[in-house]
Amino acid sequence: MQLTVLPGDGIGPEITSAALQVIEHVKRAFSLDLTIDVHDIGLAALQRTGTTLPPSVLEACRRADGVILGPVSTASYPARDQGGVNASAALRIELDLFANVRPSRTREGLQHWGRTPMDLVIVRENTEGFYADRNMYSGTGELMPTPDLALSIRRISAAASSRIARAAFELAAARRRHVTAVHKVNVLGVTEGLFLREVQSVARAHSDITYDEQLVDSMAALLVRDASRFDVIVTTNMFGDILSDEAAELSGSLGLGASINAGERHCMAQAQHGSAPDIQGQNKANPTSLILSSAMLLDWLGRRHRQENLRAAARLIEKSVDVVLNNPATRTADLGGPRSTTAFTFELCKEIDSRASR
Ligand code: ATP
Repeated sequence: MQLTVLPGDGIGPEITSAALQVIEHVKRAFSLDLTIDVHDIGLAALQRTGTTLPPSVLEACRRADGVILGPVSTASYPARDQGGVNASAALRIELDLFANVRPSRTREGLQHWGRTPMDLVIVRENTEGFYADRNMYSGTGELMPTPDLALSIRRISAAASSRIARAAFELAAARRRHVTAVHKVNVLGVTEGLFLREVQSVARAHSDITYDEQLVDSMAALLVRDASRFDVIVTTNMFGDILSDEAAELSGSLGLGASINAGERHCMAQAQHGSAPDIQGQNKANPTSLILSSAMLLDWLGRRHRQENLRAAARLIEKSVDVVLNNPATRTADLGGPRSTTAFTFELCKEIDSRASR
């Protein structure tokens, strides 16, 4: 199986190197048939090739079974016609990665900031909504009729709403069997109405899964007040983006939030956080988010190709991360610990080896 790895910008190369070390350890432990190729994207590729996403890299991603994408510093990119391409957006669209799956879970021994513990997954529609840079076939979803008037168009389709709802209900069937749809139908009656119509239709076909709905503003408060009541949350693109950062931070740290972008044929692991240029090159970043995202990718590949050893590798990474995070002495600085990125990764790989040999 082929994994294509794109380290990206900022702390990307540091946390990607950590994730690759972890993958090497589980690869040995479970004799995984994995081949890995690494390609420059972002500012490193721009200097060499004139674009932040060379076409050859996009092709490598299309051919790969799975992609691991480091964070990208799109704020520092030049305009698109000067080579600035947001790899995250482009890959989501080009590989039709319609489901952004973002779990947030509190961990034993680790402080959480919400009032209750949580174990939830936000399933976010990934291809349309308010994302004006990618929601049109041609042109963008933003326009400026006069210098003092700007408009943006939000796109919601029945097909995209229905398939993200199906992904959420399938996930809930393997968890605590509850789905909450998050919306703003009181303000965006037509678009949110269409989204909810499709989710409700999928809900009717899953009578064994309980279903409810929340307005996005009350959801923002409920995540702080009582996140323990939620299992799977399904929502549109931008609400999902914002709520998943909130949930990850409330669960302990944004540095812990894993995510995959999944389609029918492709899957891409991606940290929830950005490229953190403020701590770039200081060996301070917490690599947990990308490591857990890579574990989610292995689990997705294991399910898709019916290879139980890939799923077992994912579970071992999850368990080992729990153990290393449980000990204040082996945490990184964002969690108040003393460990550098490399020292944390060393500890995690040691835990993986020790559990694998039991
Ligand atoms: P970008 O422009 O790529 O979104 P950003 O710095 O604006 O980058 P984030 O990367 O999400 O946004 O960072 C927000 C804050 O969280 C920063 O102070 C950053 O240092 C910190 N942070 C983000 N990710 C991590 C991480 N993995 N480990 C430690 N701190 C992190």
